[in-house]
Amino acid sequence: MVKDTCGREITLMRLSVTQKCNLNCLYCHREGETEKNEIQNGNEISASEIKRVVMVASELGIKKIKITGGEPLLRKDIVDVVKEISDVKGIVDISMTTNGFFLNKFAYQLKSNGLNRINIGCDSLSSSILQKNIKNIEEGIKSAADAGLNPLKINMVVLKGINDSEINNMIEISKKYSAILQLIELIPTNKVFFTQFFFSLEGIEKELERKANKIFVRDVNFRKQYLVDGVVVEVVRAYLNRNFCKNCRKIRITSDGFIKPCLMRNDNLVKINFNSDEAIMKSLLEGINKREIYYK
Ligand code: SAM
Repeated sequence: MVKDTCGREITLMRLSVTQKCNLNCLYCHREGETEKNEIQNGNEISASEIKRVVMVASELGIKKIKITGGEPLLRKDIVDVVKEISDVKGIVDISMTTNGFFLNKFAYQLKSNGLNRINIGCDSLSSSILQKNIKNIEEGIKSAADAGLNPLKINMVVLKGINDSEINNMIEISKKYSAILQLIELIPTNKVFFTQFFFSLEGIEKELERKANKIFVRDVNFRKQYLVDGVVVEVVRAYLNRNFCKNCRKIRITSDGFIKPCLMRNDNLVKINFNSDEAIMKSLLEGINKREIYYK
């Protein structure tokens, strides 16, 4: 098992497979990638490069892969990418985060190619707030549940004055599809937007703590999950949260083939050298060694 210089064991890889997205969510952190990434020159990491970096990472003890983007389902070869990753010995869990728009089409194939679980971004039950048709996303959620993608999580980024009054509705829809609801506090991308829309989940978490029939602590990141009215609710608070960094065990790969030691920084990226497996290993270790605590 590999550790970074702060003693954190690295067991997860968050892999961005494209920058392209069919939506334009104003708050989106784009996994920390900027619009100026090399992808604009067509340099999207290939399926075979993904397989190679995952194989080498598995030798370092990385066992879990989360596929993200952009919108990963916009990538033409996405089902093949999942298959390539699932063929790698040592990878025990593959998940994906998607806006759910195209999930209806892909859920079964993703599952049969090795995807274990899924996170679906759904911030509201109103199509206009979502920027997408809620019917369409519900179909995506339903097909993911039918295909057996489990756990199925609904990601709700809570924004002040936009959807903070919808938490109970989102608990209801999560119940309907036996999904876990992830309430996510806004991570700053734009100062003006953040000042206007940041909604602290501190009060909500206290309320969940009071109401919960059971509280679990996740072993991956030590985050609490609250069982409320038959629904598991998890609260993700990153901003200025020392624990968020302390418990971070992931290394990120950008859609254009860089190792990204921290979501919040772009000044310490490492270009992956694909010349040989040894070179990939060297790049990965260099990236891991550059990991630092961001929120001190
Ligand atoms: N398009 C996919 C999706 O919608 O899930 C994958 C990419 S998106 C960057 C991954 C997740 O990041 C979203 O589901 C959303 O929950 C979360 N996210 C994006 N921007 C965020 C922000 N500024 N603060 C907190 N979470 C954010």
